[in-house]
Amino acid sequence: MIVLEARNLTRVYGKGESSFNALKGIDLKIREGDSVAIVGKSGSGKSTLMHLLALLDQPTSGELFLMGQNVKGKKASELNHLRNETFGFVFQQFFMNAKDTVHENVMLPLKINGMRRSQRKKLVDEALQAVELSEKSKNKATDLSGGQKQRVCIARAIVNKPKIIFADEPTGNLDSTTGQKVEDLLFGLNKKENITLVIVTHDPELADRCDRQIHIKDGLVIEEVEK
Ligand code: ADP
Ligand code: MG
Repeated sequence: MIVLEARNLTRVYGKGESSFNALKGIDLKIREGDSVAIVGKSGSGKSTLMHLLALLDQPTSGELFLMGQNVKGKKASELNHLRNETFGFVFQQFFMNAKDTVHENVMLPLKINGMRRSQRKKLVDEALQAVELSEKSKNKATDLSGGQKQRVCIARAIVNKPKIIFADEPTGNLDSTTGQKVEDLLFGLNKKENITLVIVTHDPELADRCDRQIHIKDGLVIEEVEK
């Protein structure tokens, strides 16, 4: 099954003389269970593309199909709903509420969905177990190491059992050993849970672990490599 398809996506930032064509017509298909690396130099348009694919931003032109459905014309509330149900996110900066506990941080996506308390707790416990951080559940998020913080973010990304995880430079702020563990965790979820991975990275080794690499340069796909 094709979970995501982009047809001739463009994104222009700004207007008039200062406008900038960040994406110039991207076509791609991502299958369920794939692991896909979006690679390219800084400024090539990787994050812009990921934001469009993840429904965090709207293209200037072109179309996007999520599980066969054209998302064009959907209301913001529908898009929010789709995003919360279908996607998990991991970013380079560990976006967390520092004063809240690990448990509270992981629970956030479920609060948005309005789920029963007991069910929420069960899902959070499972997610923390998956990243081997059950014992840190009651700690404040600030008290963790970088690698632990990123594992909390992964727990938060998987707590709603997403079909697709989007990760933008997920190991960019980690040392190589810790980064390796975070990678192992993501690829483990890909294999075991069949979660589709879309990883933005400029790390060739991380890209190499993916089934496919999509190389972006100046807002265009210049090469696709498949294992
Ligand atoms: P990458 O993630 O590959 O480093 P980005 O997708 O963040 O690249 O950015 C692609 C290009 O678009 C860059 O030249 C960047 O400066 C520009 N850009 C990104 N966001 C904006 C914005 N909000 N307004 C104007 N230009 C932007
Ligand atoms: Mg980027």
